[in-house]
Amino acid sequence: MIKTLYVRVVLTFLAVIIIALLGATLLGGALFEQDLDDLQHNEMRTAAENIIRVYEEATVKDLDRFMGSIGPLTTYPIRVYDDTGQMKSYLGANRPDKFEIPPKLVQQVLSGEIYQANEKDDKVFVGFPFQFGEKPYAMFLLTSSKNEGMILSLFLTVLLLVLLIGSVCILFAAGYLVKPLKALTRATKRLAKGDFDVAVKVMRKDEIGALAQSFNEMAFELKQVETMRRDFVSNVSHEIQSPLTSISGFARALKNDKLVKEEQSRDRYLDIIVTESERLSRLSDNLLKLASLESEHHPFAASTFHLDEQLRQVAVACEPQWSAKHIQLDLRLPDAINITADADQLRQVWLNLLGNAIKFTPEGGQISIRLLEQRGTLTVAISDTGPGIAPEELSRIFDRFYKADRSRSSSGSGLGLAIVKKIVVLHQGDIEANSEAGRGTTMTVTLPSLPPLQ
Ligand code: ADP
Repeated sequence: MIKTLYVRVVLTFLAVIIIALLGATLLGGALFEQDLDDLQHNEMRTAAENIIRVYEEATVKDLDRFMGSIGPLTTYPIRVYDDTGQMKSYLGANRPDKFEIPPKLVQQVLSGEIYQANEKDDKVFVGFPFQFGEKPYAMFLLTSSKNEGMILSLFLTVLLLVLLIGSVCILFAAGYLVKPLKALTRATKRLAKGDFDVAVKVMRKDEIGALAQSFNEMAFELKQVETMRRDFVSNVSHEIQSPLTSISGFARALKNDKLVKEEQSRDRYLDIIVTESERLSRLSDNLLKLASLESEHHPFAASTFHLDEQLRQVAVACEPQWSAKHIQLDLRLPDAINITADADQLRQVWLNLLGNAIKFTPEGGQISIRLLEQRGTLTVAISDTGPGIAPEELSRIFDRFYKADRSRSSSGSGLGLAIVKKIVVLHQGDIEANSEAGRGTTMTVTLPSLPPLQ
């Protein structure tokens, strides 16, 4: 119970209030004690002066009766001493006071001096001399214990009220403080159970508000990651499932010799099995490449080489594919263009882009590769005369597993351009696809010729 934040906040607040009140009382008492004493002395002096004035103006015959009747008119207990040191107390409504005035002080006042207590005396009082029947008398006015008690009880009542009202306020205030934290705890538990729709509604602009805001952002990001993970798993499963179905189907047919009698059909079935196996192998290869590129510790082996030379080599490597389709390849590459980059990674970029261009360009079509150098930036544009990409699909072709037209590109896995994009971004470059359906596609890669900061 004591471990809950709510109880801790309430207890801390209460402790703070009590300490503050005690401290303020002690400090205030020490600071204002003298002022309070002075104030009381002044009031006492005025009261005593008034009594003496009334006494002098009235012709008093019976001192005892006079003092007895004047006593209840003032809140201060009165004591009268005669020249023998005999004391008479006139307390009025007040309780008897046990305080002893030192005889030395009584004598001092009897000799005609006005006395006012100072810090040496442990009580506030004043002494005034007067004459009655040619004899000296001393009149003392004292603070009554009743007055002091009243002030103390008033003060304590105020303290108690402060404590009481403060406690009630704190009970509500702590609830207000702790409420969003409770909501956050509940939301965190739901999040841990896999429920990502847990936006916490907090309108506050303070630290707790900021925490709730960060929590909501985190939940949103986690939801996206979870969606991506699910999509990824379903895409991978789908990409694996279709070649596996073909492989197992045709393998079964081959096993059942009666169905495949002709040599020709058997060869066709074996070709399909080989193609589908290669497709599976390419898929796992691409998945591994992408995972490796996305890992933080992916090696980046920068070296300086001629980019035009690399592009030429890639074109030569792909010759069997483009010449089989009677595609005309047009290379416009200036000589000796230096680039500092990871050569293997960049080779993969050109292989994927040229591979797509060849794949989507029809028999007898054209592909051109252009290289341009401008103020430290190298631009490689690979254009084809293929069917092009619809505008609404252009922004998505770099997503993993995205295939613009599934019927056309069933041989691909949709990972090629995702790998290209990742490598280009790692080189602090950019890739842009320009296309019009039916009029071909141009993939433009821009790269800095200097090595990127790793
Ligand atoms: P795939 O392995 O399926 O080719 P990519 O990531 O390389 O995957 O390409 C994604 C999609 O972009 C392809 O399925 C295709 O629809 C489209 N695409 C890429 N390059 C071209 C191109 N040169 N011409 C037309 N469509 C293209």
